[in-house]
Amino acid sequence: MPIPRLANLIDGRLVPPQADRWLDVFEPATGEIFAHCPDADAADVAAAAAAAQRAAPGWAATPAEQRARLLQRLADLIEARLEEFAALESRDSGKPVKLARSVDIPRAVSNLRFFAAAVAAWGSESHAMEAGAINYTLRQPLGTVGCISPWNLPLYLFTWKIAPALAAGNAVVAKPSEVTPCTAALLGELSIEAGLPPGVLNIVHGRGPAVGQAIVEHPAVKAISFTGSTATGAHIAAAAAAQFKKLSLEMGGKNPAIVFADAELSDANLDTLVRSGFANQGEICLCGSRLLVQRSIYEAFRERYLARVRSLRVGDPNDAACDLGALVSRPHYDKVLACLAQARAEGGRVLCGGEAVGVPGRCANGWFVAPTVIEGLPNEAATNQQEIFGPVVTLIPFEDEAEALAIANGTGYGLAASLWTRDLSRAHRLAGQLDFGIVWINCWMLRDLRTPFGGVKHSGLGREGGSEALRFFTEPKNVCIRY
Ligand code: NAD
Repeated sequence: MPIPRLANLIDGRLVPPQADRWLDVFEPATGEIFAHCPDADAADVAAAAAAAQRAAPGWAATPAEQRARLLQRLADLIEARLEEFAALESRDSGKPVKLARSVDIPRAVSNLRFFAAAVAAWGSESHAMEAGAINYTLRQPLGTVGCISPWNLPLYLFTWKIAPALAAGNAVVAKPSEVTPCTAALLGELSIEAGLPPGVLNIVHGRGPAVGQAIVEHPAVKAISFTGSTATGAHIAAAAAAQFKKLSLEMGGKNPAIVFADAELSDANLDTLVRSGFANQGEICLCGSRLLVQRSIYEAFRERYLARVRSLRVGDPNDAACDLGALVSRPHYDKVLACLAQARAEGGRVLCGGEAVGVPGRCANGWFVAPTVIEGLPNEAATNQQEIFGPVVTLIPFEDEAEALAIANGTGYGLAASLWTRDLSRAHRLAGQLDFGIVWINCWMLRDLRTPFGGVKHSGLGREGGSEALRFFTEPKNVCIRY
C-alpha cells in the first residue's frame, strides 16, 4: 500500500508543499514509516500568511457567537471521530491508545468548546472618572498570529493554542510538530467541513528551522504562541525581538514532587505520584521528575513506590493493558538512554529500569524504555538539572521544610511543583515560596481551563489558559470619553 501524504491547509484548501519535498513520519512502536508530511518552507508560510491576512478582517468582524458556533462544530466533528483520532495520535506518538482516548482527544475537544464558550462570555473593563469621563477598553484581535506546538501532546496542545487565537478573532498560521503531524492534519480537513472561512486557519507542516522560523519572522504575524523546548523558545525570542512581537513561551520543566512525612500516602495518592512521573512515558512538561521525600519516611516510601513502578507494563500502545508505550522518536530514545548512562556515570543507583525494553511481535523494533527510578544523586547533578523528558524519576531525601524548598527551587526551570502534606499552614506557606508557575497540593495535573497556565525562569514567559489566553491574543486599547 502506498504511504499516505499529509497536506498543508492554506486558504481553505489542502495543498502539497510548493517545493514537493516530504518528511518521513514514523510509528514509534514499530520504527516504521507510516506517512509523509510536507517539508514545507518559507514560500508555503508566505502563502499561508497572505491567506490569513485576507481572512483576518472578516473573521474579526464576525460576531463572537458565530465564531464560537464554528469552533463548537469543529469540536463536534472531532468528537464524532474520537476513536480514529485516538488511534492516529497513538500511532504517531507511541503513547498508549487508552491515554489518547481518555485524555488527549477529549481534551482537544474541550479546548475548542471551552474557548468558544469563554469568548462568548468575555467582556472588558470600564472606569468612570470623577472628572466626568468614562474609559473603556477595546480588546481587538491582533490580525494574523502564529501557533507552534510540540510532539508530546500533539492535538491537545495544538488546539490549546489555535482555539483561543481563533475564538478571539484572529487568523492563524499554525505549525504542529513535524514528529507528530497527523492529528493536526486531520483537524485541518475537518475545519473545512466545519465551515471555517478559508484562510482563517492555515496549517503548514515541516521542520522548525524552516517553517517555524519563517512563521516567527514573517512581518504579518503579530504574535507567536509557542510550546516546546527552552532552547527553541530562546531562539524564537531572539528572532522575534527585532519586530517586537508578542510572545507566549511554554517551555521545559524539571518539576519537583515534594512528599512530607505527614502526607496522606493512600494507594490513590501513591498512584497519582507514580502517574506524575511516568504518564505518557514521562513525556509531559508537567511530570514530577524529581521526587523529594522527607528522610523520616524515605525508606518505607521508596519500597511502596518502587513496587508500583515495577508493576507498570511497557508494551504495544494498542494493548489495553499497557501503561507506557514507546518514546516518540529514535533521536529522543537515544537521548534518554544517554541520560541514563550519564546518571550512572554521576554515581546514581538505578533502583529499577535503567534500560531499553524489548517488546516482542510487531513492536520488536520500537523505541521502548523501562520506567526508571534512580537515587543517590545530589540536586546539583546534571541528571537532576537537565530535562530528560522520559520515564526517569530521581529520588532525593530531605530533612525539613527549608531543605525541601531549597532543593525544589534549586533548578533553572520553574514550571510546576506538587506538594504532599496534611499540614494546611505548610501547604499555603510553601505555595507562596515555591518558584513555579503552578503548584498542586495533594494532587497533580488537575486542570481547570479557566486558570492561568505557564512557568517562570527557563520554563516560560507569559500565561495561557482562560482569560489569560484571550488577553494574549488581543490588543487592549483604552478609549476615554469626556462628557
Ligand atoms: P522543540 O522545541 O524541538 O519543538 C517545538 C516546536 O517548535 C516544533 O513544532 C518544532 O518544529 C518547532 N521549532 C523548532 N525549531 C524552531 C525554530 N527555529 N523556530 C520556530 N519553531 C521551531 O520541542 P519538542 O521536542 O517538540 O517538545 C518537547 C519540549 O516541549 C520539552 O522541552 C517540553 O518540556 C516542552 N513542553 C512544554 C510544555 C509547557 O506547557 N511548558 C508543554 C509540552 C511540552
